[in-house]
Amino acid sequence: MDCIFCQIVAGKIPSEIIYQDEEVIAFRDINPQAPTHLIIIPRKHIPSLAELSPAELPLIGRMVAVAHKLAREEGITETGYRLVVNYGEWGGQIVPHLHMHLLGGKRLSAKLG
Ligand code: 5GP
Ligand code: ZN
Repeated sequence: MDCIFCQIVAGKIPSEIIYQDEEVIAFRDINPQAPTHLIIIPRKHIPSLAELSPAELPLIGRMVAVAHKLAREEGITETGYRLVVNYGEWGGQIVPHLHMHLLGGKRLSAKLG
């Protein structure tokens, strides 16, 4: 098992896990791009959006719901936040385990790309 995020799920790599349930976990990004930068992932190893089966689609909804709950806990729902899923080389996906970035706590760049 050489997937970094699977190792975080298994507790083999330490991380600041701030949420977990039976399907989803969330932790702070090791290299934060904003005052709040959380990573939300499925426990299951799904490499990217391309491998998400129709039956697994509800996971995305759960991840969004967890993200909003954590944003509220971080106190950034008033000012706002951004959810990002990178895909592929040009989209900037580095870690091949499906994940969502939650960014907030500062005014984010108006440019998305
Ligand atoms: P990607 O570019 O694949 O969308 O984002 C991967 C994110 O994972 C990056 O923001 C990177 O800082 C974060 N990351 C990579 N390795 C680790 C790690 O070992 N621990 C934590 N907490 N975050 C990581
Ligand atoms: Zn994985």
